[in-house]
Amino acid sequence: MKRALFCPVCHSAMNSCDVICDECKAALDGECFDSFMSRCPVCFYPKVAPFYECDKCAALSYNKVYPVARYDGPLSYSILDSFKFHAHKEMAHVIALYLSRALSALDPQGNALIVPIPCSNTRLKKSGWDPMVEVAKALRRPYLQILSNSDLQRIQQKRLNRQQRLSASEGRFVINPDYSGKLDEIKDKSIIVIDDIVTTMSTMNSAISFLRENGFSNVFGASWLCEL
Ligand SMILES: [Zn+2]
Ligand SMILES: [Zn+2]
Repeated sequence: MKRALFCPVCHSAMNSCDVICDECKAALDGECFDSFMSRCPVCFYPKVAPFYECDKCAALSYNKVYPVARYDGPLSYSILDSFKFHAHKEMAHVIALYLSRALSALDPQGNALIVPIPCSNTRLKKSGWDPMVEVAKALRRPYLQILSNSDLQRIQQKRLNRQQRLSASEGRFVINPDYSGKLDEIKDKSIIVIDDIVTTMSTMNSAISFLRENGFSNVFGASWLCEL
């Protein structure tokens, strides 16, 4: 006899080991860009019309960042809200299910290391958990918390060398002190930076640039949601 499980999104019973029920899956699939919009084949940004010229690629300042679904979808938004702001940690599995579509497009071999964008230190102190770390765990593949927010670094500055202090002053990220001096072993790995949502891309772009400055040459980004 199959176990009766409940869909974490709509709470209806489902008789399978699926992450969400078929109805929620159909609704969420409809909020994914690929169901209603094409993408720039170079940077993966969703584009509105077949003749739309991707301005990011035209400016040659693009990063490959693959967003999966729209931010203003009714279901995707409510999942984000209950995950981040109402501590429904089980939603990490729903987000991971959809984020894995971006990962397989960016890294079909499945060799890249996942690097979650850290939440703010204020949030971490208040809630005690970091949303993207929960999603990274739910993806069930190797991830490293290489990135830290640079305000953390002020507290731990004594543990960092001059070069690290300099790069921290320029941006919002620093290398997590736990990994300082240990990055050489993994520099040949591709990295996929993951976040739950991109809007202006400024956080994602600065994370990607920061990792490049630190010697990683293949760095991509994936986000579950995107505000176009
Ligand atoms: Zn459901
Ligand atoms: Zn493009």
